[in-house]
Amino acid sequence: MKAAKDTVITLHYNLSTGGEQVESSRQGDPLTVLLGRGFLIKGLEDALLGHEKGDTFDIDLTPDQAYGERREDAIQRVPKKYFVNGKRLKPGMTTVLTLKEGGQRAVTVHKVGMTTVDVDTNHPMAGKDLTFEVELMDVREATESELEHGHAHPDGEHEHA
Ligand code: ZN
Repeated sequence: MKAAKDTVITLHYNLSTGGEQVESSRQGDPLTVLLGRGFLIKGLEDALLGHEKGDTFDIDLTPDQAYGERREDAIQRVPKKYFVNGKRLKPGMTTVLTLKEGGQRAVTVHKVGMTTVDVDTNHPMAGKDLTFEVELMDVREATESELEHGHAHPDGEHEHA
């Protein structure tokens, strides 16, 4: 069957930008997702539609189909105490910022001062052209519980809280 909205697909992918591989699912288990529910970036979801089990193909995405353009106003000055590892930060590192309003966010360190850190809150992949090398390993109908929960269950049927 063909990959479509609300089918469950299993895939391996390598992600590269500028000819350099930045991420790969092949270090672990393949990714299993309920398609069309926003688990993958939009451009990737769209490009997977219509493909079948066993297909291998490349998907090239421009920033507007992926993580968006870089925003120059996305650099923010933040007190060091908001970082879990504030003492060891260096420009270019990615780290996790604990937000005042709760939750956490991955950011890139731009500049480190005495008591503050300038961080770039752009997504690390913002403004970049991405290439996904995809191997579609399985396409199946979603089960009723998967459709109800809105996510894939790796074994199709398991119950969970
Ligand atoms: Zn579930």
